[in-house]
Amino acid sequence: MNVALIAHDAKKELMVQFCIAYCGILSRHNLCATGTTGKLVAEATGLNITRYMSGSQGGDQQITARISCNEIDLLLFFRDPLTVKANEPNDMDMLRLCDIRGIPVATNIATAEVLIHGLERGDLDWRNIVNPTE
Ligand code: PGA
Repeated sequence: MNVALIAHDAKKELMVQFCIAYCGILSRHNLCATGTTGKLVAEATGLNITRYMSGSQGGDQQITARISCNEIDLLLFFRDPLTVKANEPNDMDMLRLCDIRGIPVATNIATAEVLIHGLERGDLDWRNIVNPTE
């Protein structure tokens, strides 16, 4: 499965802790992330992560492009709901495309916990049938 990781600044430490906790599961999947999120998680876990540009430089749009091509099976996007971001419209577009494609998304750690266990159980394997190139 292709898993994308994005965390706003206020949620980066939470994302790092989440990825440390679930490193074993995540290591069995193809990971990609926006620049800084990917760097911090890779440094903390040793996970192999394809890193795109930083979010502010278009990394979120690079991931959005992969979502629009149905190349992402799970998005873990830890948003900061308290700070308005310059690229907020891009974030909304990314979530909109996930809804179009039926891609599971977690925007907070509670949902991410549920989805990561679903990933481990194989609950998302139906996406391989929809996306036979995976
Ligand atoms: P970053 O991008 O991981 O490069 O910080 C995420 C964001 O803030 O959109």
